[in-house]
Amino acid sequence: MAIRYGDDIIVVDAGMMFPDAELLGVDIVTPDFAYLEQNREHVRGLILTHGHEDHIGAVPFLLSQMSIPVYATQFTLALVERRLEEHDMLKEAQLRAVKPRQKITLGPFSIEFINVTHSIVSCVALAITTPLGVLIHTGDFKVDPTPTDNELFDLHTFAEYGKQGVLLLMSDSTNVDRPGYTESERAVRPRLEDLFARTERRLVISCFSSSIHRLQQILDLAAVYGRKVAFLGRSMVSTTEIAHDLGHLHIPDNILLRPQDIASSAPNKVCVVVSGTQGEPMSALARVAVNNHKNLTLEAGDTVVLSARIIPGNEKAIYRMINHLARRGVEPVYGAMNPPVHVSGHGSREELSLILNLTRPRYFMPIHGEYRQLAKHASLAGHMRSSGLDQTFVLDTGDSLEIDSYGARKGPRVMVGRVCIDSGSLDDIVEDIVIRDRRHLAEDGFVLPIIAINKHTGRSETLPEIVSRGFVSFDEKSELMHEARMVVARTLESSSAEERTDWGVMQEKIRSDLKRFLTKQTARRPLIMPVILEV
Ligand SMILES: [Zn+2]
Ligand SMILES: [Zn+2]
Repeated sequence: MAIRYGDDIIVVDAGMMFPDAELLGVDIVTPDFAYLEQNREHVRGLILTHGHEDHIGAVPFLLSQMSIPVYATQFTLALVERRLEEHDMLKEAQLRAVKPRQKITLGPFSIEFINVTHSIVSCVALAITTPLGVLIHTGDFKVDPTPTDNELFDLHTFAEYGKQGVLLLMSDSTNVDRPGYTESERAVRPRLEDLFARTERRLVISCFSSSIHRLQQILDLAAVYGRKVAFLGRSMVSTTEIAHDLGHLHIPDNILLRPQDIASSAPNKVCVVVSGTQGEPMSALARVAVNNHKNLTLEAGDTVVLSARIIPGNEKAIYRMINHLARRGVEPVYGAMNPPVHVSGHGSREELSLILNLTRPRYFMPIHGEYRQLAKHASLAGHMRSSGLDQTFVLDTGDSLEIDSYGARKGPRVMVGRVCIDSGSLDDIVEDIVIRDRRHLAEDGFVLPIIAINKHTGRSETLPEIVSRGFVSFDEKSELMHEARMVVARTLESSSAEERTDWGVMQEKIRSDLKRFLTKQTARRPLIMPVILEV
């Protein structure tokens, strides 16, 4: 998000996402920074709310385009440093540590950092005072009344700004579908304690390496139940080191076990904390599951706990990994249960209402979520009409909101997009679908319609190209080839503007229309993989 007043711009967060299955062969996706690049002389700094990948993952890519200072809490900066180091960019970076309640000034903006609770430690919301009024950006949050580190959600400061008057509230919408309150991080303790109490052999627990609260509870319980703790996985080792160095993770004396000593330790004296809850094929847990990790060979009777959410889209990979675990005679513990083995880091409806009520904004803009969640969060604010809420804005990526002394309105769209980055890593495990595709390829070849879409207009300005291999019926200049290109062009033409922005839908439409055409004309069924390029 970029916030601009006159000729001064500040940027809030710069995250990345992992691609869905539609983007074959792509490892990470970052935002297109074109708008910031065009306005680089106006950009005063980057402000980070917390250290999750969807908030800091693109920092190296942004800093490679422009040299600007980065403001964040010390812990968040330490995670950024790790990423910058990977890109050999640490030396030039201007990293400025800030603390909750601290204020900084960047051009016309005065920014106060407000402590909030979330699934990672050291998170802040932002109160950005501008000449027009105060903007509140919550970052990611839940209102945890009993955080494990006792760093409380600073409701007072939210209320204080509310009293003085908030021009615009921008608030996390991730869990707007969930009624009630999200459980405190401490709610997982009874379940973890039960697992420590009754597990007779090795206890293996997987969680996100950034879940410092969770790791602290595991370490504390391990100390109580006399188990030593080994950390497995690169991110797990480095994140716990950072958290420990900065005082966010207390490691009881003599509790750490070197990974190479797991095998020689008594099974009932070991707890292994391992990364890879989402079944990522190269992660430590996925390798343990297929018995391909040099430090840990699971045996019948061991317990493996997934203390994390199953992120939609990852179900297949996760269940495949759990199947492997079950085959080893391991007891897998995962999914919903009471007491929970995992709690969310995002606030549910009552917490979202609480923030609305405390800040009493004049304008409200839900952020952080899919469009359906933003829309739902907007209607949740309906009860605020009588408390001074003038208007709610649901914006899409690339939309802008303009506020001046006359009011607020949607402004012009700015150029945005996504940049796909393929770091070229290879997966160990070949999926069923890959095998099916390969069989398909061997028999009937493949057809690759290539559609170039203008990223400004959303339209295709040239006739689509088609490349094929092993599909005997195609000849470069044949009538069939020409007709096939026309089929693709017609599919594009007949699609609505909204459909054209959804690459998944477009690929599926092109695939099915072209398949129908080719099957009818040739009685063959080549593998069809539409490729859509933004140009
Ligand atoms: Zn987060
Ligand atoms: Zn987030």
